[in-house]
Amino acid sequence: MIKRLQSVKERIENAARACGRDPETVRLVAVSKTIPTDRVKQAIQAGVTILGESYVQEARAKFNDLATYPASWHFIGHLQSNKAKYAVRLFDLIHSVDKLKLAREIDKQAKKINKIQEILIQVNISEEASKSGVDVEDAHNLLKDISLLENLSVKGLMTMPPYFNEPEKVRPYFSALRGLRDHLEQQELFNVTLSELSMGMTGDFEVAIQEGATLVRIGTAIFGKRE
Ligand SMILES: *Cc1c(COP(=O)(O)O)cnc(C)c1O
Repeated sequence: MIKRLQSVKERIENAARACGRDPETVRLVAVSKTIPTDRVKQAIQAGVTILGESYVQEARAKFNDLATYPASWHFIGHLQSNKAKYAVRLFDLIHSVDKLKLAREIDKQAKKINKIQEILIQVNISEEASKSGVDVEDAHNLLKDISLLENLSVKGLMTMPPYFNEPEKVRPYFSALRGLRDHLEQQELFNVTLSELSMGMTGDFEVAIQEGATLVRIGTAIFGKRE
């Protein structure tokens, strides 16, 4: 795992340099969903600084054992409103906010613990019916509404494009997310910054970096195939 992690970090750096970006502007989210706590611990000891988890219950259990370890926890899965209470206690960044109702619940729970919760807006950039994320044409209105919630701070956009074996086929979705970000940035919404683009996974992170990713979410290339 240490070797795989090293290789992923090198690939990130190379991809960034090759397109003229500072490698420091791309952060690795090591996706540790379904990975047992002791292996997550090893990953932190090997230099992982951000963990990506998809299930609140699972993350809570791991966090209990790893609370003293120097890692930042990000939520990347589908968040149910009734888990928002736990999510605000655990996660520094929630990547997957796609509905006003969910945003309101996160805001309410964050207020209770006096926290400004940082979030990303998940966009259904491919407009597949089965996918989570706000539709492109609704993103502006959602952002406007969310910008009024005092205990939320929007940092950027996230997407999960359709799966292809061929990374080049995913490129148009990544570039569409960046285009949407550039467009929304011009609206100058109060309390909203859109500097983060969370996109790119094991199969396509280099293309995502070329298209402007600032957070790449990588599981398999670090931990091996999930059970
Ligand atoms: C599982 C998951 C990943 C990581 O996928 P890999 O192909 O294992 O790198 C990234 N993002 C999200 C939202 C995921 O659920």
